[in-house]
Amino acid sequence: MADNTPSEERTSKNFIEEIIEKDLQEGRHKTVLTRFPPEPNGYLHIGHAKSITLNFGLAEKYGGGTNLRFDDTNPVTETVEFVENIKHDVKWLGFEWARELYASDYFEQLFEFAILLIRQGLAYVDDSTSEEIAAMKGTPTQPGTDSPYRSRTPDENENLFQRMREGEFSEGSRILRAKIDMSSPNMLMRDPVIYRIKHAPHHRTGDKWCIYPTYDMAHGQSDAIEKITHSICTLEFMPHRELYDWFIDKLELYPSRQYEFARLNMSYTIMSKRRLLKLVEDGIVDGWDDPRMPTISGLRRRGYTPEAIRDFCGRIGVAKRDNTIDMSLLEFCAREHLNKISLRRMVVFDPVKLIITNWPEGQFEALESENNPEDESAGNRKIPFGREMYIEREDFMEDAPKKFFRLGPGRSVRLKSAFIITCDDYVKDENGRLTEVHCRYHPDSKSGSDTSGIKAKGTLHWVSIPHAHKIEVREYDRLFVAEHPVEQAKKEEREFTDYINPESLKAFSEAWAEPAVAADPSDQYFQFMRKGYYYPDKDSTPEKQVFNRTVTLRDAWAKKNK
Ligand code: ATP
Ligand code: MG
Repeated sequence: MADNTPSEERTSKNFIEEIIEKDLQEGRHKTVLTRFPPEPNGYLHIGHAKSITLNFGLAEKYGGGTNLRFDDTNPVTETVEFVENIKHDVKWLGFEWARELYASDYFEQLFEFAILLIRQGLAYVDDSTSEEIAAMKGTPTQPGTDSPYRSRTPDENENLFQRMREGEFSEGSRILRAKIDMSSPNMLMRDPVIYRIKHAPHHRTGDKWCIYPTYDMAHGQSDAIEKITHSICTLEFMPHRELYDWFIDKLELYPSRQYEFARLNMSYTIMSKRRLLKLVEDGIVDGWDDPRMPTISGLRRRGYTPEAIRDFCGRIGVAKRDNTIDMSLLEFCAREHLNKISLRRMVVFDPVKLIITNWPEGQFEALESENNPEDESAGNRKIPFGREMYIEREDFMEDAPKKFFRLGPGRSVRLKSAFIITCDDYVKDENGRLTEVHCRYHPDSKSGSDTSGIKAKGTLHWVSIPHAHKIEVREYDRLFVAEHPVEQAKKEEREFTDYINPESLKAFSEAWAEPAVAADPSDQYFQFMRKGYYYPDKDSTPEKQVFNRTVTLRDAWAKKNK
C-alpha cells in the first residue's frame, strides 16, 4: 500500500531493513554491501529507480556501499550508449556507487568456475537441440528426462567446453548445463543452461569470447566475487534463489544471499525495457527521453526532480507482493517538491486584451513580485505594468455567476502583484467574440501598500503586451489508454501498442510570457501561475523557448475519474 508519510519521517522498517538489522546484530556482517545490476540493453525507468533507491538507500542507512554492476552477458542487445546513460541517470538521481563493475570483467573467472563444476561432475556439454532440451525438461507436474549426453565424463566435457570457447562449434550446436536434478520440483534446477555459444562481439570484450554465461551463472557468482552481503532483486527471481545458493555451495564461494521484493508496476504505462525499446524503434515516441516515457530520462526532460522521484520511491515502500501504483502518486510527489523550488512566472495561454483606461499610454511601471512565496531567498523580480495587457480569455464572463471571482461588467479583481481593477466595459467583434476588456485601476490599491479598502476576491495573472514574448508549451497525458496495456493486449489478442493514447501529446500551443522567462536558465523549474509546473525543453532555440508541462497544479485526473 502507498504510504503518505514523507520518506524522511517514516519510522517503520521494511522487511529488508529488518533482515539487515538482524544480520548486523548477530554479527553475520559488519557492514552492508549491495549492488544495482542493470543490463545495458535500454534506458532506466521508474521501476529501476525503486531498485536504485532501495539498494543505495540501505547502504547509506547502515553504512557500507553499493556497486554499480552492469549485467552485460548478452552481447547482442547491449551497447556503450546504454551504459553511459545508465551511469548518468544513477548520478542524476543523487547516488554515488562504491565501484563501477561489469559482469564481463569476470568472464575468465566464470569460465574457471565452469571448469571446476565440470571436474566435479557437476556440469556437462549437451549437444541436444533447444527443442530436444525443452521436450526433456518435463512440466511442473511431470519430472524431466535425462539428456543422452548427461553421462559424459569430466574429461570429455572439459575438452568439449574448451573447444566451445575456441570457436570450433556453431551457435546452438552445444551448450553447457549444470548437472543437478531432472526431477526437481523447481524447473530451474533441472540441469539449467549455464553457457551458450554466441558468435557476436561484445561491447567490452570485443571478439575475445564466443561463449557467454547465462544470467544464473553470472549473477550470483558476480555477487560472491564482490562479496555482496544482500543481493536484492525482484520477485520473479524467487525460483532462481535455489540455484543461486547451489552455485555458492558447490563452488565454495562467499555466501551472498538473495532477497526478493515486489517490482514496481504503474498504471497507464509500461515498465519493460524491451517494450519501451519498441516504442522508440517504431517512432511511436520521440526517443527514450520523450517526456511521456516512464524512463528516468523522460521524467527528467518532463521536469521531474530527483528529489520527487526519490520521495515517490520511499512512499511506495518495499512490498513482498505485486501491486500497481497510480501515476497520481508520482505527480503528487512532483507537486510537493516543485512547489518549494519553482520560480513563479506569469504566462497567458489564451489571451484577450485588457485595457487600463486610466493608465497613460506609453507609460510603464516596473512592479516587484516575489519569485517564490515558499522560499524568501529566491528574491524578487520586476514586472512591467502598462496600459495594454493580456489576461486569459476564460477570466472574463459577460453574465458571470455570483461565485465567479474574476472579471465581468462591474466586477473587481486584483492583478497579481499589481493593482485592483474594475471592469467598466468590453468590446466584441462581429462574430460576438470578445476582443477587449476595459478596466479602471485604483491607484491606491498597489500590492503591498493597498489603502483602497476595495475588496477583490480573485487574483489574475497578466502580462504587459509590449513586453511579452511568445513561447511554445507542450502538454502531456497518459501514454496509454489502458490501465494495464500489456495484460489487456494479451486478453484481447492485440498488440500493447494498440493502446497508445492518441492524445498523449496534447498540444503544441503558443502562450505569452512575462519578460523574466526569457532570461531564466534552461534548467530552471517553473510554476506558471494558476496553470501548472513547467520545465524548459531541449527543443528550445534562441528564437523560441519551449516548455513541457510537468504536472498541473491540482490533480485533474483523479477528479475526472471520480
Ligand atoms: P526490464 O524488464 O525493464 O528490462 P529488467 O529486470 O530486465 O527490467 P535489469 O536491467 O536487469 O532490467 O534490472 C536491474 C535491476 O532493477 C534488477 O535488480 C531488477 O530486479 C530491478 N528492476 C527492474 N525493473 C524493476 C521494477 N519495475 N521495479 C523494481 N525493480 C526493478
Ligand atoms: Mg534483467
